[in-house]
Amino acid sequence: MRTARKTELNNWNQEFKNINHKNRKYLIKTYGCQMNVHDSERIAFLLEDIGYESTENQNEADIILYNTCMIRENAEVKVYGHLGQLKPLKKERPDLIIGLCGCMMQLNDIRNTIKKKHSHVDLIFGTNNINELPDMIYKHLRDNQFIESIEQNMKIVEDAKEVIHGEAARAYINIMYGCENFCTYCVVPYVRGKETSREPIEILKEVQYLADQGFTEIMLLGQNVNSYGQSLTNPITFTDLLKQIEKVEGIKRIRFMTSHPKDCPQELIDWIAASKKLSTHIHLPVQSGSNKILKKMNRKYTREYYLDLVRRMKEKIPNLSLSTDIIVGFPGETEEDFQDTLKLVDEVGYDQGFMFIYSERPGTVAQKMPEKISRDIQLNRFQLLLDHMYDSFKKKNEAYIGKTVEILVESVSKNNPDRLSGRTDTFKLVHFLGEKNLIGKYVQIKILSANSFSLFGELVERLE
Ligand code: SF4
Repeated sequence: MRTARKTELNNWNQEFKNINHKNRKYLIKTYGCQMNVHDSERIAFLLEDIGYESTENQNEADIILYNTCMIRENAEVKVYGHLGQLKPLKKERPDLIIGLCGCMMQLNDIRNTIKKKHSHVDLIFGTNNINELPDMIYKHLRDNQFIESIEQNMKIVEDAKEVIHGEAARAYINIMYGCENFCTYCVVPYVRGKETSREPIEILKEVQYLADQGFTEIMLLGQNVNSYGQSLTNPITFTDLLKQIEKVEGIKRIRFMTSHPKDCPQELIDWIAASKKLSTHIHLPVQSGSNKILKKMNRKYTREYYLDLVRRMKEKIPNLSLSTDIIVGFPGETEEDFQDTLKLVDEVGYDQGFMFIYSERPGTVAQKMPEKISRDIQLNRFQLLLDHMYDSFKKKNEAYIGKTVEILVESVSKNNPDRLSGRTDTFKLVHFLGEKNLIGKYVQIKILSANSFSLFGELVERLE
């Protein structure tokens, strides 16, 4: 952004502060995946850089931004619902700036609907236009006009210094953008564009910067991190990138997400087993246990391949923790196909997972598929899947009872302000009683009880 404009916006916000003895405030509501969460961290920086302050209360916000997601119909419906609720607020306070960004905004039809039906929206920008936000605010204030900025193929420039980290202990790093796998149910390739990897040197600089800032845990993000590096002029493998990151001093734990099963070479499994810093938690979306459905989904692997991959991982990686994504009720899914999924779930024994009922996404191949599954059958299958998965999570978690585990303390527990929460290397959520000054530190916790989603324990020792 041009410095003069930035200075003008800062002066404008400072003037407000001088008169009202408080800052102008922003609220960002984030829908969807971790990549959106990280985009929101970048947006927060840009807003604070021009003098806004964060709030959770929409009634005191001067700018409200929805960072949208359209992977599931549910998330999209929620955005429209929340947007409708902002109408009276905008009527009451016409100076309130309302903006929309994220995946939904990449689609023409959606933008047109919003412009037609939600005239209280002031700004719309795409996933590649985040850096333009201050400029857009400036132009909106200057001309009192709706501003739109969407670029499908612009090179994204990220600066590690321009992020307000939402978590005290863990920092997120985008290592690549987009996806070209075209799973038939998924809208990501249409809204996030071609797969593009960032240069390793840029990533390493960012990791070093985060380590210097005191972060000890990083999570590398991408739609399919395993195929990292293939689009670079000098291609490198994801395993090689991990080996280089491991050398950065100060970083104790490295996580990554998401892995496509079709791109999991043995050298990656071997390195996860050998590494001193890589988490042994792997998110490995299976989506279905039926070969027929996997083919219709264009997942490019079979049930047998997936099970063999899991077997090789279990064999090699001690303390492996597996999570997954599963869709039920995909077009053409018979009872037999669904039973194949349940059998696979029972055989693998997942630690965590995200389960979804298939929902049609605009423009995807699956949208045009016949043999849609009735809602009743979808709901029935979904409940059965949840029963199997929750049972598996519980068994896996109960195996921790009596053990002492190391966790990085992340925050005060959401459901109990007296407790703190943190995660093990295997990404298990652990709650315990402790002082807030432990946030950001590593501690040893003895696990006393467990349910399907969490472990509960007592503090044994604080580690330096
Ligand atoms: S790998 Fe498939 S499910 Fe994942 S983002 Fe790409 S197209 Fe979507």
